[in-house]
Amino acid sequence: MKYISTRGAAPILTFGEAMMTGLARDGGLYVPETVPQMAQADIAALAGLPYEEVAFRVMRPFLGTTFTDDEFRGLIAKAYAGFGHDARAPLVQLGPNHFLLELFHGPTLAFKDFAMQLIGQMMQAALAKTGDRITIVGATSGDTGSAAMEAFRGLANVDLFILYPHGRVSEVQRRQMTTPTEGNVHALAMDGDFDDAQARVKDMFNDFAFRDGVRLAGVNSINWARVLAQVVYYFSSAVSLGAPHRAVSFTVPTGNFGDIFAGYIARQMGLPIEKLVIATNQNDILDRALRSGAYVTDGVKPSISPSMDIQVSSNFERALFDAYGRDGKAVAQLMAELKAGGFHISQGALETLRATFGSGRCSEEETTATIRTAFARTGEVLCPHSAVGVKVAEEHLGTAPMITLATAHPAKFPDAVEGAMGTRPALPPRMADLFDRPERVTRVANDLAALQTLIRERIGG
Ligand SMILES: *Cc1c(COP(=O)(O)O)cnc(C)c1O
Repeated sequence: MKYISTRGAAPILTFGEAMMTGLARDGGLYVPETVPQMAQADIAALAGLPYEEVAFRVMRPFLGTTFTDDEFRGLIAKAYAGFGHDARAPLVQLGPNHFLLELFHGPTLAFKDFAMQLIGQMMQAALAKTGDRITIVGATSGDTGSAAMEAFRGLANVDLFILYPHGRVSEVQRRQMTTPTEGNVHALAMDGDFDDAQARVKDMFNDFAFRDGVRLAGVNSINWARVLAQVVYYFSSAVSLGAPHRAVSFTVPTGNFGDIFAGYIARQMGLPIEKLVIATNQNDILDRALRSGAYVTDGVKPSISPSMDIQVSSNFERALFDAYGRDGKAVAQLMAELKAGGFHISQGALETLRATFGSGRCSEEETTATIRTAFARTGEVLCPHSAVGVKVAEEHLGTAPMITLATAHPAKFPDAVEGAMGTRPALPPRMADLFDRPERVTRVANDLAALQTLIRERIGG
């Protein structure tokens, strides 16, 4: 199993190498050279299995020889043992043909835990074999950072630095990043927005002297191993509703396009998915791009669904790579144009994308109204991101069952939920002391050289 870059000019890697590398050296993202196919009978056989076994069967073909089957089963078991629900990713029904996939039962209450817990286990296991140490630097709009802190704290062979936009994450998100006490994890509050933080991380990867000097690795959603871990719940939920004998659709609250791209991979593997609907908040570049063909940035507008406050959706590059017939040069050209403000998707590529993806946007007022009406109609308390999904899904209901991904627990965004419903959602009991734990954070400027100095000092190199 080999991995190639979306820009066609980086070394071809194994799964283990792609996991440790993150961003390719040509600035592209790693994708499988060919996507393994899952036979309809093998999909049908997933029905009724524990989540961990579904995870093993879906991911195993992508791994090559990086882990033995026994090792991989052990890592999966450890990754999901701390989840607060036996089903890991339970489905609840919202309406006649509309279901909600609850992805917020992990340790930091957002879907990011599914991938981060597993990648933490996989990286540590791979490093323990060689005795190597790595430095992970990640940018976060809130949930990636908290999930990474939780997954990597205390791991022997990893130092983790998380850059988050100062003042633009929720208090629960911030505390989940600033309260771990282990010395190998570092929360950095940076001036600017998420795109600034993500740009500085990309700069570090493109500075090869720094990258090689600190043995830099990435856990942002550009990391292929994260995408892969998210493919699993598309299978587990679709099979619960009758796949492969019946097709389903998904609506995915989208920011960096990692989660929905995992659904795209599930579809490529043979899971019958009719439509994958991109749901955006008022930061609607993907919805505009799919409607008009013009992918043009216009600055981030902070919203009540902050984990989707993104203009440059990194993983969209992977979808473009396929839509352009896997032409790395064409993708590199588009990304160069993006640096200058935007690009036009070719007619052929746009038609290819529209055959798989639908899209819709949800305003701030609509988000609040959806939290209120969903509670009145079903008793389900939605986080603002999930509400964006539910609103857009309702505009795309058809004959296939619709599964909307609930990406975070409402208690992670209590202000938005209280603003909509008048009551404050409670944290699950296992986290009730979050507000009493002391915080540890460093304020940093949006300055590459200063960040690099700080990281070198902290790891003592
Ligand atoms: C990260 C996140 C999203 C967006 O997911 P992408 O993979 O970046 O598209 C949506 N909702 C929540 C709660 C998130 O944490």
